[in-house]
Amino acid sequence: MDNFLNFTEDYCREVANSCTECGLCVEACPVVPLAGLESQDAGQLVSGLKSLSEGKSSTSRASDWLDACNGSGICNDVCPENINVRSWISGLRTIQDVSRTPERDRRKASSDKFRAMSQAIRLLSSMQLPPDVISKITRTKGRGPADVVFYTGCNVLRTPHIVMNMMEILDALEILYEIAGGTSFCCGVTQHRSGDIGSYERVASRTSRAFEEMKAQEVISWCPTCLLQFNENWVNYDKPDYAMAHVTQFLHKYLDKMRSQFANCPPRRVVLQEHDGIPGVTEHVTELLASIPHVELVPVKQNRNFGYVCGGIGETYPDIQRENYRMLLEGAVAAQADCVVTIYHSCQRMLAGAAAQYPLNVLNYTDLISEALGRPSYTDIYGTLARVDTMDTIIETVHQLLKENGVEPNHSQIELVANQMFGEPGFYGSKEEFVKNLEKKS
Ligand code: SF4
Ligand code: SF4
Repeated sequence: MDNFLNFTEDYCREVANSCTECGLCVEACPVVPLAGLESQDAGQLVSGLKSLSEGKSSTSRASDWLDACNGSGICNDVCPENINVRSWISGLRTIQDVSRTPERDRRKASSDKFRAMSQAIRLLSSMQLPPDVISKITRTKGRGPADVVFYTGCNVLRTPHIVMNMMEILDALEILYEIAGGTSFCCGVTQHRSGDIGSYERVASRTSRAFEEMKAQEVISWCPTCLLQFNENWVNYDKPDYAMAHVTQFLHKYLDKMRSQFANCPPRRVVLQEHDGIPGVTEHVTELLASIPHVELVPVKQNRNFGYVCGGIGETYPDIQRENYRMLLEGAVAAQADCVVTIYHSCQRMLAGAAAQYPLNVLNYTDLISEALGRPSYTDIYGTLARVDTMDTIIETVHQLLKENGVEPNHSQIELVANQMFGEPGFYGSKEEFVKNLEKKS
């Protein structure tokens, strides 16, 4: 089961051979100074990557660079040899993890993280949706031949109103789609990042075969991490029959059709929270939003290239993420925007609570598109819980949904979810209040 590891070693060696050691990727990388590597010679750091790729030890602090990488992808944009430096770094990190941590520990870390994620997703989705809808948004069968597979990933199920919005949009565009969502269609990122390569290969392979069996020509991924995991780490190894693209790229192809259908459009002054890292995504969302009548996009200063998504960055760089949010939100207020619009689900989760502190709504771009297409709207229950001033309005609904799902969370499960929710930078509610409210009727 170490075929993927062998492949990764070959891949890194091959990439190293095409690198000219110009050092441009190091100079552009935003985490090099944060990891205290600015005094390192750029050429030496890259030469360290090349040594690691050849199975030798590095004389520079290249391994610190691997550990600090936040996946921003800026290095890819500047490399004159068109090397996917992010993917090279990811491969080397895997090799490094395998060489420095015993297999038993890697497997344990991977299964602990996966279990915690699964439990949190199960509890959070059960707090927000009835059981029949949970089934509907994780797997749709029997619709006939589908044009596309709508691959939700796992963590968007913490904010399932986004999936409901996407389904409304696809229905409005009369697209035949199948849904693949939840932990049974895992991309394997947890296992991959833990260096648990045997499990990663099993999980990613199972999901990849499931996509092939659905026989759609295209898989459109909601989740940016699943997309990168498949397109940058998996497809070169697996060479599957399908192609995967981000949903925004897919929706952008339907821009003219959407324009002809946009009708229900209240006036909004909108600040879009932007992310670089996956080429075209921010640009596509900008164009989609700008096409909605009466939506005015307001530019504000923001740090769009610090990580391809909000999720995960806060764990490593919490102060920078808080500062990025402060700059964005204060800029939006100064520009008299009435809402900040997010692209990804983790950004939505982390910014949702800001509505309690700033005179702004925090919406996802799918809220605006679905609304403009005249489709039903869905409450962001996670965001409502995230605000101490609105939690009371939703807690009865949450208890009712938990009952319908047959879920009776115990104290440790509630604590697990509360720690994850309130550990996210940008979350402004009260953890104690949340735990107390949720336990009241459990
Ligand atoms: S992906 Fe971003 S953080 Fe990682 S090495 Fe490249 S530029 Fe640096
Ligand atoms: S920018 Fe490309 S060629 Fe230059 S050092 Fe980085 S990986 Fe090598």
